Amino acid sequence: MSGDVVVIGAGLAGLTAAVELANAGRRVRVLERRTVAGGRCGRFVHADRRFTVGCNDFGRRIVADLQELGAPVAFVPSTVDIHLGGARIGNASALGTIAFALRHAPGLVRLVRGVQARRAPTVGALIERHVRDPTVAGLVGLIAYAIGTPLHRWRTDDLAADFAKANAYGHDRTVVPEEGVQAIVDALVRRLHAQGGEVRTDVGGAVVDRDGDAWVIRTSAGDDVRADAVISSVPPPERAAAAEPAGLAAVQCLFVLGGDFDWGPVRTSIVMPGGAPDWLAELDAGQWPVDFGFHGFRDHTDADATTVTAYFLAPRGVGTFSEALRRSMLGRIVTGLDRVRPGFEAAVRTAALLDPDAYVQRHGLRSELASPRCDGPGPLPTRDPTTGILRVGNGIGAPGEHANAAMLSGRRAAALVLRGEA
Ligand SMILES: Cc1cc2nc3c(=O)[nH]c(=O)nc-3n(C[C@H](O)[C@H](O)[C@H](O)COP(=O)(O)OP(=O)(O)OC[C@H]3O[C@@H](n4cnc5c(N)ncnc54)[C@H](O)[C@@H]3O)c2cc1C
Repeated sequence: MSGDVVVIGAGLAGLTAAVELANAGRRVRVLERRTVAGGRCGRFVHADRRFTVGCNDFGRRIVADLQELGAPVAFVPSTVDIHLGGARIGNASALGTIAFALRHAPGLVRLVRGVQARRAPTVGALIERHVRDPTVAGLVGLIAYAIGTPLHRWRTDDLAADFAKANAYGHDRTVVPEEGVQAIVDALVRRLHAQGGEVRTDVGGAVVDRDGDAWVIRTSAGDDVRADAVISSVPPPERAAAAEPAGLAAVQCLFVLGGDFDWGPVRTSIVMPGGAPDWLAELDAGQWPVDFGFHGFRDHTDADATTVTAYFLAPRGVGTFSEALRRSMLGRIVTGLDRVRPGFEAAVRTAALLDPDAYVQRHGLRSELASPRCDGPGPLPTRDPTTGILRVGNGIGAPGEHANAAMLSGRRAAALVLRGEA
């Protein structure tokens, strides 16, 4: 036994597992098929400016997780204003605001009890049958938007797991890294190197064989690597054929604004028409609703420019937008942001839209906000029934499709390896 561990995928889940193991003295090699580490949590350059690849808001558990890993990062509270059906309902952390609003909704108790008792298989059915309160439905629709999952597909089990005390993600008080999301990945990679670990970028990996107690991993560089334990971020093959489809795909809009534009102190604006359950269902059916929600946040500020990233959800099955559709959608987002951030439209210097197919081309990653469902939420991480390797992060399905869950699955996978259970 050499004690070597190979981690396939340098997203948050893989890097977290790798650092935890390297901290415990194990020799760890991470294989990453992209040219940079970070996966959906990282930065890229567009029009010579910095933008965020995917995740941008984190449950506050991440602060303690990174500290415990020896990769501390400075965070600030994430501030957001929510414009719901034309009314501005808050200026606080997103879920904190929703939780506050929900406390004033009479259907909340029925919702919480319904989730605890699993009175219906999906959140949509629970609200329809047991809650019957449009305020609760509208507010819960906001969270459904954030995870790209229409209410009738959102499993009550997953909602319960996401708010379970054992996971303690801290999504009621979200935070953002002071220096931008890249700081998280940089801190993890730095720590891994300091502990003797290695990240090979531009190198994909796949388990091909078993050799006694060891696994053999074939790399795209043409060499074979042996390991006593393997942790993988690659989704299992059965996901592709899963009965339940993936969540809705995000569309990414990238804006460069003139340096004299003041976005203001509140980082994120969420702009939601009423009736989120209905327009999410229309998107799920592959249709464009008359109106739909989006959100935008201040991404990065330079001396002469600010970048803003906005997301909205594409109708299911619509991967490529025509040029006319791209222009009209960008126009809608600019007008919407100008309403809540006056002066936005005049300050836009460049604007671009990455539809779901363009997102895959640009980032080498998919923008669906939830994995297709196979076999129930399961513990984090999951063990591949064929190869016996551990799967972490997005690849394991809900509840694993946000940054905190990805990291937690990485930590738990590392603990299994250290206990000799993998
Ligand atoms: C647009 C968007 C916005 C989001 N916003 C938020 C948010 O605000 N807050 C939040 O908590 N979450 C958010 N998420 C979700 C969050 O980004 C992910 O849950 C999290 O980053 C997943 O981490 P991961 O390590 O599991 O997977 P990934 O980040 O996907 O990393 C997996 C890595 O494995 C690599 N890989 C795959 N196959 C191989 C192979 N064969 N060999 C080598 N490498 C391989 C990939 O290249 C990738 O780098 C968002 C997601 C998207 C798409």
